[in-house]
Amino acid sequence: MLPFSLPPSPVFPVLDALARERILILDGAMGTQIQQLGLAEEDYAGDCACRHHSDHPQKGNNDLLILTQPQAIEEIHFRYAMAGADIVETNTFSATTIAQADYGMESAVRDLNVEGARIVRRALDRATAIDGKPRFVAGAVGPTNRTASISPDVNDPGFRAVTFDDLRTAYSQQVRGLIEGGADLILIETIFDTLNAKAAIFACFEAFAEAGRRLPLMISGTITDASGRTLSGQTPTAFWHSVRHARPFTVGLNCALGAAAMRPHLAELAGVADSFTCAYPNAGLPNAFGQYDEGPEDTAAQVARFAREGLVNVVGGCCGTTPDHIRAIADAVTGLAPRAVK
Ligand SMILES: [Zn+2]
Repeated sequence: MLPFSLPPSPVFPVLDALARERILILDGAMGTQIQQLGLAEEDYAGDCACRHHSDHPQKGNNDLLILTQPQAIEEIHFRYAMAGADIVETNTFSATTIAQADYGMESAVRDLNVEGARIVRRALDRATAIDGKPRFVAGAVGPTNRTASISPDVNDPGFRAVTFDDLRTAYSQQVRGLIEGGADLILIETIFDTLNAKAAIFACFEAFAEAGRRLPLMISGTITDASGRTLSGQTPTAFWHSVRHARPFTVGLNCALGAAAMRPHLAELAGVADSFTCAYPNAGLPNAFGQYDEGPEDTAAQVARFAREGLVNVVGGCCGTTPDHIRAIADAVTGLAPRAVK
């Protein structure tokens, strides 16, 4: 079931024209910004724990803040937009029934995705009212905390904690909510298992068919080790060939590594992909306390190198990046040509 007979959403030609003209900017991390708010259990849970009958602690359930601290989340999106982001992600990385099961919050998933997209739209409209620049809501779809191609049990390599159909069902629900809330495109990110991503792509196609139009897809893998492979064992080239049937707006890499370590893998991907490319590295590698020390200018200098080498069409930041990182990245790539697409 491929959706290419469906009418494309009006965002396609707009994004395509912009991406040919200049390097587009994606936003940075939510986690670091949320941490700074210093929220306690009751700030996280609000009245959601009662309404959804969850007896799990909610502290750390960052996606739930869409419903319990909407103004704080909107402010973070707004700061990224004003820092120069053209594309801003929803705070819905874990807003699937599979990931929310850890918090007993499965029943909140539809609201999280619908409201998650609406909050970004509000923030972006405020920014556009100030400077007139068009901006786009990317519905963020994370990998979930389970993997469909690898057993979590070393004594039972055939065991799977999740199946393709479980993932497809969960992702369909998420993507329907994101579309209902007004997402302009869908970003499937931090892909460590390509089979999970394939379920997400399939779910997008189903949701597009229901909606009667297709949205641009951004697909972003994660290289998890120095040998340059994803957790499910693919090189960047193999990863591209596994997802190219989706005809994504961008394919790229995010997370796990800082920009310096990501560069050769990004170069490989940019060498084979006939879509636009996107890279949003972490702010370096985490220190012994799991924190990211790389400053905005350092990250920006390395991302600008990606641009000078003709590797990228969209750039942003992942873990540890802040609005200052995004502003520095946007400044550093201004005037540099976007990667030429075959
Ligand atoms: Zn990351």
